[in-house]
Amino acid sequence: MKKGRVVGAHIGLQIFLSCPLIEHKKNKMAQLDIREKLEILADAAKYDASCASSGSIKRESRGGKGIGSTDQGMGICHAYAPDGRCISLLKILLTNSCVFDCHYCINRKSSNVRRARFTAREVVDLTLSFYKRNYIEGLFLSSGIIRSSDYTMEQIVEVARSLRQDHDFRGYIHLKTIPDADPELIHQAGLHADRVSINVELPTERGLKRLAPEKDGGRIEGAMKGMKAAIVETGDARRRFKSAPRFAPAGQSTQMIVGADAATDGDIVRRAAGLYDRYGLKRVYYSAFSPIPDASAVLPLQRPPLMREHRLYQSDWLIRFYDYRPDEVVAATEPETGMLPLDIDPKLAWALRFREGFPLDVNRAPREALLRVPGLGVTAVDAIITARRWRRLRLADVGRLTVSLAKIRPFVIADDWRPLALADRADLRRLVTPRARQLELFAA
Ligand code: SF4
Repeated sequence: MKKGRVVGAHIGLQIFLSCPLIEHKKNKMAQLDIREKLEILADAAKYDASCASSGSIKRESRGGKGIGSTDQGMGICHAYAPDGRCISLLKILLTNSCVFDCHYCINRKSSNVRRARFTAREVVDLTLSFYKRNYIEGLFLSSGIIRSSDYTMEQIVEVARSLRQDHDFRGYIHLKTIPDADPELIHQAGLHADRVSINVELPTERGLKRLAPEKDGGRIEGAMKGMKAAIVETGDARRRFKSAPRFAPAGQSTQMIVGADAATDGDIVRRAAGLYDRYGLKRVYYSAFSPIPDASAVLPLQRPPLMREHRLYQSDWLIRFYDYRPDEVVAATEPETGMLPLDIDPKLAWALRFREGFPLDVNRAPREALLRVPGLGVTAVDAIITARRWRRLRLADVGRLTVSLAKIRPFVIADDWRPLALADRADLRRLVTPRARQLELFAA
């Protein structure tokens, strides 16, 4: 970009690159070495949940005691490939500078954080050197918006292009795309990446307007629609011609921030179900809003309970793997608040609300009905279906397939068990709710 050209014209500010303050900041940024940039840009990427890391206690072998460490290297996270493999990814931002000012984001224009920026070449070199050392199996790359959406997207695409074409990189690439960018650039991203994601950010249009006024819900969904069309089209082409190019073979995903606006769990479940349905998403990720330094006054002061995020993932699971309709999951929310209960899982909440469908006979009920029994997962139900071909099942047989026999007893009939009035008891919820456990105050 030429000096003196206006950036961020859409937000109405006349910022000129010839400004001495900006020149000073640019020089400071240029002085950062790769390690410092990695520290800043890996830390900034940790707020993105769409490549989920697994948690663990910290263990390490410094001081000559023991072998190994659970402390992952800077910027390295774990994600799951479509075939279920757990893979390590280098998870970084290209830059944490941004011309947008989304209230919930630590990298927003008005945020007082240390800024850094990688060049496309630096990201390529880092990825290759980590890959060759066997630290990672792929790259997750996102970015703040610098200069313009198109310019930023060009840089992101250049990283993936160079890895694939110049270096024949066969590892996993997940690119976060910018919905406002030229559709051709977003298409290019799909040609090089395994997975692309486009964040809807907030569950409702109202929330998006309030907290990210520069973003446009219509354009975000338009980009998802274009991505779906390209995935379907290239899938068809590849079925006919083996030589047809691949396009985002691991599909597209999105992320929603939970608890930054007034959206209820019912709103979130409905929005996620609509996105799965319309755009064939592989995953919707839910990220509990976490308060950021110097936060805007329009944000809540407290983060929502992490359990809320967990309950939303469970409800998502019910729709994707247990054939619950979205309106059935919404029916499990508390009518007064529209929120899923935090003390019990959504499947149990649904069963308690619709008790008339229980108890179910484990020796006769169809698979789809058994999948609705609280405490019975897909593997347990399939084991029941297989075992009952040979003999009638007793309660203890079912108990061996579940973590909590107390949880399933009111909802099933077995050869030696019939719950009688248990399913109708007024205090059933108390009987099946897992006991609260006092956590240790000083646990590591
Ligand atoms: S566009 Fe992305 S990086 Fe920029 S402020 Fe908004 S959420 Fe943050």
